[in-house]
Amino acid sequence: MRHWTATRLAKLARSASRAVGKKGTDLPGQIARKVDKNILKNLASKVDEIVFISGTNGKTTTSNLIGHTLKKNDIDIIHNNEGANMAAGITSAFILQNTANTKIAVIEIDEGSIPRVLKEMTPTMMVFTNFFRDQMDRFGEIDIMVNNIAKAIENKGIKLLLNADDPFVSRLKIASDTVLYYGIEKNAHQFEQSTMNESKYCPNCGKLLHYDYIHYNQIGHYHCACGFKREQPKYEISEFTLSPFINMVVNETTMNMKIAGDFNAYNSLAAYTVLRELGLEDDLIRKGFETYTSQNGRMQYFKHGEKEAMINLAKNPAGMNASLSVGEEIEGSKVYVLGLNDNPADGRDTSWIYDADFEKLSRQTIEAIIVTGNRAEELHLRLKLAEITAPIIVEKDIHKASALTMNYASFTVAIPNYTSLAPMLDQLNRSFGEAN
Ligand SMILES: [Zn+2]
Repeated sequence: MRHWTATRLAKLARSASRAVGKKGTDLPGQIARKVDKNILKNLASKVDEIVFISGTNGKTTTSNLIGHTLKKNDIDIIHNNEGANMAAGITSAFILQNTANTKIAVIEIDEGSIPRVLKEMTPTMMVFTNFFRDQMDRFGEIDIMVNNIAKAIENKGIKLLLNADDPFVSRLKIASDTVLYYGIEKNAHQFEQSTMNESKYCPNCGKLLHYDYIHYNQIGHYHCACGFKREQPKYEISEFTLSPFINMVVNETTMNMKIAGDFNAYNSLAAYTVLRELGLEDDLIRKGFETYTSQNGRMQYFKHGEKEAMINLAKNPAGMNASLSVGEEIEGSKVYVLGLNDNPADGRDTSWIYDADFEKLSRQTIEAIIVTGNRAEELHLRLKLAEITAPIIVEKDIHKASALTMNYASFTVAIPNYTSLAPMLDQLNRSFGEAN
């Protein structure tokens, strides 16, 4: 009875919080937990496979990639895909997405919430991406957190899928007898180096770790005199390139992803590891991996028939240069749509476009460049100064300008500034027939 009331109240809470315009992800769980403190425990016991995804960076991408791939293969799942990754949000997901057929839960969990949530339920599998210090943290705090997580996990028979290349993550092997690793081979890719200066001390004995190879920060191939070392991965990337999206070779299998950014190779590999361990073969995984893209206008990819597009926000010279470089990496001819608004949120001063390297465009094969937004003419002038010879079309209406790109067979490269992003993204979603 208590359970029924809790569930009922949670569903009402969702309707109520949606009505006032909130996403309504934490509130149902919060209410249900007040009425029935065993609700998560009870609901979780009805699911066969529960995968927890945790770590400092990349857990949302990893979790969404797993969720997307399972759904593409018509497998029902419980998934907290709105990023509500603490006890209340996880409870909401179990209440609101539970059906009789749902036997798998894919749960992103905040690192700090692991001890609390593991008191109520036990996942079958946990995958960890990486552990980095927040800027506020002091040295040593990661060690404390890792030890707390290890204590929460131990003696529960949880299968651990660990990033072999991160010594903080692989340290968790002390917490389970069932451990396997994923990682990236030496020289598989030249990672962009970050300026963050991570401690590279052995989590086992505290001495300085020896590195044979560093991918970035503390992530790489390491060993210590005490015996602590990078373990041999079961799933390993031998090489990957960005073109601009990730093409990676994992255990002899090639995956042509539709997400960019070299750090996402680790997230893709973490997702791959989970899916293989859930029993999916490569061709089923490929169905998900080759269709998954970001949803926020940052390196988002579209495809319908032969027509392809990608959109990437640029609101300063560095962002514009990066987006124009992405265009260079796409093979064949392109049609560009460039958006420039000068609304308050954009900053009224649009002179930054004179510091961006539009001259890059003259090195590409371009069918047409459509300039749009309320400062479209400014962009037109800038392109003229860059001596661009491709045809330039001025269409101030962003929806119309974006729709116009569909008249060209070439790959569409859409580069909006801040407030031109929403209408451009909306039109691309419509043009490519993606409901939103
Ligand atoms: Zn050591």
